[in-house]
Amino acid sequence: MRFDNAFIRDLPGDPETGLRQRQVQSACYSRVSPTPVAAPRLVAASAEVAALLGLDPAYVASPEFACVFGGNDLIAGMEPFAVNYGGHQFGNWAGQLGDGRAISLGEVLVPSGRWELQLKGAGPTPYSRRGDGRAVLRSSVREFLCSEAMFHLGVPTTRALSLVATGDQVVRDMFYDGNAQAEPGAIVCRVAPSFIRFGNFELPASRGDIALVAQLVDFTIHRDFPELEGDRTAWFHEVCRRTAVMIDHWMRVGFVHGVMNTDNMSILGLTLDYGPYGWVDNYDPDWTPNTTDAQGRRYRFAAQPQVAHWNLHRLANALVPLFDTTDPLTEGLELFVREYQRLEQLTAAAKLGLEDGTLFDELTGLLAQAEVDMTIFFRGLANVDGPSLEPVREAFYRPETMPLLEPWLARYAALAKPGRKAAMDAVNPKYVLRNYLAQEAIDRAEQGDDLGVQELLEVMRRPYDEQPGNERYAARRPDWARHKAGCSALSCSS
Ligand code: AMP
Ligand code: MG
Repeated sequence: MRFDNAFIRDLPGDPETGLRQRQVQSACYSRVSPTPVAAPRLVAASAEVAALLGLDPAYVASPEFACVFGGNDLIAGMEPFAVNYGGHQFGNWAGQLGDGRAISLGEVLVPSGRWELQLKGAGPTPYSRRGDGRAVLRSSVREFLCSEAMFHLGVPTTRALSLVATGDQVVRDMFYDGNAQAEPGAIVCRVAPSFIRFGNFELPASRGDIALVAQLVDFTIHRDFPELEGDRTAWFHEVCRRTAVMIDHWMRVGFVHGVMNTDNMSILGLTLDYGPYGWVDNYDPDWTPNTTDAQGRRYRFAAQPQVAHWNLHRLANALVPLFDTTDPLTEGLELFVREYQRLEQLTAAAKLGLEDGTLFDELTGLLAQAEVDMTIFFRGLANVDGPSLEPVREAFYRPETMPLLEPWLARYAALAKPGRKAAMDAVNPKYVLRNYLAQEAIDRAEQGDDLGVQELLEVMRRPYDEQPGNERYAARRPDWARHKAGCSALSCSS
């Protein structure tokens, strides 16, 4: 592997080394090595990401691979570091946060491009505050599987190369009720062209370090947006546009991020930081998977477009000193709104398989009222060829609510044209990473059975295909999962 570690080469670093917890001024990162683990063992790997990186499958299966991607060894060219950033959490400025448990190994240059490799859960850094720098298996399975599932759904996202069990125990209080327990630890290797977040710009801006904001902006444009070299306005507009694209995809597939803090917003418009995320089962605009957010529901499903706009506004505020007037920034925020509205209309029409999305808003109101599974309903809609609800029957959690949809369906059937199925099936997935499916794979993995993770990954590689024999992965959330931890709601404990 050929490394070209631009981030640490071209940006200022922390002169101090070691793990002392500290405020790091005037620097974008601190050098820090992964802390070795007891017995690294590969649980699962993404063949597609390995191929992107030019890694031989035999190497990926070898003990050497588990050693490197479990944090016990470095390959020549790797120069590990943790990144310094801040962020707005749940609407409030939180100050310096930084990579408390992520350690980047370096940037590889391969024919498919530049990829930063980052271990999540590889031990403490100067940004760990009171945390241990580790991650439990359950949250690592979720991040690993969802990164790849999202990619195959066509949603912009960071990727995941590997999931390695560490052989160490990690203590977590999952329900925040004073019952801490030891759980198996794990490390995911995340892969993306860049892990720069809105919060990377906000932190130096909050400290009045305008020179560093400018340097980071120009570095980001040069490395990650080379076609926009020298044009900070065009760059900010592009960030707004990409964020709109990402959110539109989330709404299309029923993904709820759960923690849209500005430190979790990628400057590349990639879905980043899979924590207490979730998938909408029954269509519910107010649903949030995050128990920490259960009261305010700031990050509920339907709020994601507005939250993205709010987050872009925080980024814009950090960039104000770089511009003569605020006009370019205001224009970017307006561009986000326009672009999102345009995409929302296109997506509504595409999901319905109609010329336009006029019927969509009325439908989502009914879906929420009647408790209908989002994924099954839209998939089934392609088979509707008359006023009968039969093709979408499976989507109803309570069959007695079916009549609520009848008038709408009659209008839909009158407009829907034959021959629309292939196009609809390409935007309405059959398989999504339902919360209960991930939990089943986790339960098996915690018993030492890795196959559940591997099988689920395999199904999620082809979410738009029918996949005869795999229908059970497309089933409605079973009743037992309705209120079960991990299936209906998740804490941030990870
Ligand atoms: P998150 O909610 O996962 O995006 O994390 C928010 C902040 O907390 C980031 O700065 C993380 O690095 C940090 N953090 C979360 N969990 C841990 C942990 N176990 N050890 C150290 N830092 C952590
Ligand atoms: Mg985060």
